[in-house]
Amino acid sequence: MHFTGRTWRPPYEAHSVIIQATTGCTWHKCRFCNLYPGECFRMSPLEEFEEDLTEIKQYQPYARRIFWTGANPFAMSYENLKLRALTVRDYLIKCQTMAMFASIRDIRDKEVWQLKKLRAMGINGLSIGTESGDDETLALAGKGYTAADILEQCRKLDEAGIEYYFVYMTGLAGKEAGRRNAVNSAELFSRLNPYFISVDSLTLFPDTELYRMAQAGRFAPAGEKERLQELQTFIRHLHIRTHLFDNSVSNFYPVTAYLPKEREAVVSGLQYIMDTVDEEEMTAYRRGLKALG
Ligand code: SF4
Repeated sequence: MHFTGRTWRPPYEAHSVIIQATTGCTWHKCRFCNLYPGECFRMSPLEEFEEDLTEIKQYQPYARRIFWTGANPFAMSYENLKLRALTVRDYLIKCQTMAMFASIRDIRDKEVWQLKKLRAMGINGLSIGTESGDDETLALAGKGYTAADILEQCRKLDEAGIEYYFVYMTGLAGKEAGRRNAVNSAELFSRLNPYFISVDSLTLFPDTELYRMAQAGRFAPAGEKERLQELQTFIRHLHIRTHLFDNSVSNFYPVTAYLPKEREAVVSGLQYIMDTVDEEEMTAYRRGLKALG
């Protein structure tokens, strides 16, 4: 198999077959991110992709779901995605879903009819690292798009029937701005249909711009309890039926919930942690983290 650089897949794709479609990221400007350092974006040549499919076919000929790695393989053109999706079907006859990371920017150049065609060919399950739906936070994080862009582009996915997953990152707005971020993000996400929302919490790693901004006094990090309050606010303001996973390593207290059914139980659980655990213990936990998670 051709894997180069750091191979990164979301925890919920643990049961998918993994294939390298691209390496690196087309953007490289998110201020909290230290993934793919120094790696230029590269599409795997088709021959390489086919060699990997040949290998997969030997061991998992009936694979039903395949995850294409790289920060945003959906950046490929419609024609290129189509060609690769059809190629996967040549090799893996039972494959129903080709999932991958995508950025809001990657959807812009695709028309709804093209998205529908891609969906029909099996491209489905886009993990979108939105991180927020609040304009100030998106600008601070360097995401390169606005809440209006998220709304416009994800409505196209809804129309095309492509399933997608959002990420929300607590602490990203900084000290005392978590409530605003949570309310605005929940309101935006509630106008769309993310199949689930995965929650991370900001960890400042030394090789990131946000870390340097914090060192220079230009970014004040949110406290740990403040982040749990932010998550409570986010959950309270989400008005869609969705799953919420807050169980990556970046979260001090893991939560999984089906909303709105389990809303009150989760909010109470978060409150219990805030009432019984010291801020210092949570801060020490974060200091021990070695990688984004
Ligand atoms: S968060 Fe994603 S889009 Fe942003 S720089 Fe990192 S890999 Fe690229």
